[in-house]
Amino acid sequence: MNSPAEKIFLTDSQADKEAYIRMMSEAVRAAVDAMSHSQAYAGMPPYELRDVIRKSEILPVNGIGFEAVMQEVREKILPNLVRPMSNSYMAHLHGPALLESIAAEIFIATFNQSMDSWDQAPAATEVEVEVIRELCRLYGYGSAADGVFTSGGSQSNLSGLLLARDWFCNEKLHWDVKKYGLPENFRKLRMYSSEVSHFSMEKSCHLMGMGYDAVVKVPVDQAMKMDTAKLEKLIQADLAAGNLPFCVAATVGTTDFGSIDPLIELREICDRYGLWLHADAAYGSGMILSRKYAGRISGISGCDSITVDFHKMFLLPISCSASLIKDGRYFEALTLHADYLNREEDEEDGYINLVNKSMQTTRRFDALKVWMSFKMRGADGWSELITRCVDNAAYFYSILDKNRETEVVTMPEISSVVFRVLPKNAAEDADTVNKRIRRELLHRHGVVIGQTVCYGKVFLKFTLLNPLHTPEKLDSLLQLILSLR
Ligand SMILES: *Cc1c(COP(=O)(O)O)cnc(C)c1O
Repeated sequence: MNSPAEKIFLTDSQADKEAYIRMMSEAVRAAVDAMSHSQAYAGMPPYELRDVIRKSEILPVNGIGFEAVMQEVREKILPNLVRPMSNSYMAHLHGPALLESIAAEIFIATFNQSMDSWDQAPAATEVEVEVIRELCRLYGYGSAADGVFTSGGSQSNLSGLLLARDWFCNEKLHWDVKKYGLPENFRKLRMYSSEVSHFSMEKSCHLMGMGYDAVVKVPVDQAMKMDTAKLEKLIQADLAAGNLPFCVAATVGTTDFGSIDPLIELREICDRYGLWLHADAAYGSGMILSRKYAGRISGISGCDSITVDFHKMFLLPISCSASLIKDGRYFEALTLHADYLNREEDEEDGYINLVNKSMQTTRRFDALKVWMSFKMRGADGWSELITRCVDNAAYFYSILDKNRETEVVTMPEISSVVFRVLPKNAAEDADTVNKRIRRELLHRHGVVIGQTVCYGKVFLKFTLLNPLHTPEKLDSLLQLILSLR
């Protein structure tokens, strides 16, 4: 047994440095060895896997040591992980992680900076501030804008909607929610998002004490975009009924279809009725880096808050997201001074405490992943990665649209394609056939694809976030799918 005082951290001692290098190298080697095939999943089905994991004792009296743990990781864990880097993986808005961002994770974990206060994260704080400034510039915001990294799109949406709600209550109702809680007539507060928006809208309203009923679901058109004429009627009806509309949440890339709500028209409507416009760009935010396609989200600079997810189109490891606000002063809603953390006297002397903008206290240095990856690949490199995914989706849609054995829903604006195959035998139920195909792909062919419901019918879904997909690969996947009917 080692004495507990050594080989527990990376310190300036030679023995610790050697232990660090040895353990990291073994981990890297195990990851590389696990890549012995190109399938997206070649692991066990659920019951078998559960049994294997359950049989392995988690807290033995005597620790088994690093080598034995690594052996179990190699045998039980790594083979049963999905491989988002495989070009047979296209199930969810879940991408592979770029190599340089994995290197960034080594620094994030090794030095374990905590982003709440400057004295826990000096360079990390300054990097996050500058990355946020660059992002605000990228999305067309002015110098009053600000932002913060979050755990994901769900938290970024909650942050945007909370600031919207508190802004409305402060300015329009002269009510300070932060201090007094919800206003008495809180059941009248209304926000609007399309019927295909993400469920974090409802979840956020629940967390904010307003409940799901505060979310008005606006119908979409054939292209799965919010119908603005219907939105305006719903706002007018709510106003006539004495309700309190405060926000429209546009989806910039819906989870299933990648459809983009009409941001310019929504800005006009929000101005007409004095509403906050939030952009849930968890998916579509990556489009900004494609020279060919950035125009598709051009209205985003007019939104009051933007959710950016880096663990989707931007190909960075989970978790990595940002919440941007056009007027950074509204972050005040999340500021609370504590004697043990973010003292005002330090802030007056120039120490930045990012906790003032965040729902989290202890928080990861995720901004480093963006910093390293943006610098390394540059605008040209990034444009190529994102453009390729969008081009691939356009290609896949074009072959499905021509094929008489498949049905498509909408032309993709980003990189997901929703479709279904028609049964070979007309007596068979199409829903059953499509569901069966997805399962067979997963367990027999190592191919992981998505499935959803649209107009009450089961559809399959390709979410193409991996620039390693090629038209040839997409052709062969379609042939495979058709052969399984
Ligand atoms: C993925 C997604 C979210 C949630 O983001 P997480 O990072 O998973 O929390 C929100 N909105 C949309 C449109 C999404 O696609």
